[in-house]
Amino acid sequence: MSNSNGSSAKNLIVSFGEMLIDFVPTVSGVSLAEAPGFLKAPGGAPANVAIAVQRLGGKSAFVGKLGEDEFGLMLANILKENGVNVEGICFDKGARTALAFVTLKSDGDREFMFYRNPSADMLLTPEELNLDLIRSAKVFHYGSISLIVEPCRSAHLKAMEVAKEAGALLSYDPNLRLPLWPSPEEARKQIMSIWDKAEVIKVSDNELEFLTGSDKIDDESAMSLWHPNLKLLLVTLGDKGCNYYTKDFHGTVGAFPVKAVDTTGAGDSFVGALLTKIVDDQSVLQDEAKLKEVLRYSCACGAITTTKKGAIPALPSVAEVHTFLDAQH
Ligand code: ADP
Repeated sequence: MSNSNGSSAKNLIVSFGEMLIDFVPTVSGVSLAEAPGFLKAPGGAPANVAIAVQRLGGKSAFVGKLGEDEFGLMLANILKENGVNVEGICFDKGARTALAFVTLKSDGDREFMFYRNPSADMLLTPEELNLDLIRSAKVFHYGSISLIVEPCRSAHLKAMEVAKEAGALLSYDPNLRLPLWPSPEEARKQIMSIWDKAEVIKVSDNELEFLTGSDKIDDESAMSLWHPNLKLLLVTLGDKGCNYYTKDFHGTVGAFPVKAVDTTGAGDSFVGALLTKIVDDQSVLQDEAKLKEVLRYSCACGAITTTKKGAIPALPSVAEVHTFLDAQH
């Protein structure tokens, strides 16, 4: 068991999964082959969430594996600079930190090229997990990219089990990345294989369509994903805000109108904000008025994140969110 005794340590959010570097073209609207150069954009949804939590005044730790190379050390430093607990990070001597070259072409098509053959994050083993850290989590958050291959998949399952046994609330944002899976069927099957464990689940509108196989983004479709252990299901809708579902009530919280320049990280910012609030007061899961207030705050965080390029540089601080919300009146 954890021997933590500080009140801040009690409210730790542990985020599990991948951290990598996206290489994005220096000019927009070109193919990867045409790009004259690339900029490094640190990311990986679980790492973004950990940083979002710290910026918003919460306490987070990141658990995952990086390459023992310049990029892996750089990523670990970014976490440290943001105050994220890095005691759960391992470094692989052989494999490199994952890279993803990503571009949005002028025709709107996204092009991806991954360097994961294999990358360090995929090689995390159950034995390498910092179980004391995981047991000290009040909220344990994860995605689905860590389910794609072994041994990381087993590490993910073990970490989830240990966190749950120690009493953590499990939070799941599948963050579907189809090009990383062998097939869409396999993606759906594996994403759903851990569905019933999570108590908080956030999907985007696109993920709802993918998981249900329906093109309807309505209450019926969302509720088809409901399971008895679930306390809160969220469907984020980009510039339309989000829909929320609990056992007793459901509804919509609208988005804030902003001039979006890059939506990368909006969902992670939203999740980070939500978890930062839930970890301090789980009654928001039963109290609709409180939940709506928390989701308004989360939507503000998502909106702010779209107004700047990149994910991590665009994650807001508490002061920025308050300034933003005050300006809405
Ligand atoms: P994801 O990044 O997971 O696809 P979304 O794009 O739906 O998630 O964004 C998460 C949240 O961020 C939304 O629920 C919304 O509140 C906010 N958001 C995202 N895009 C915009 C936008 N263009 N304008 C205003 N708010 C946005």
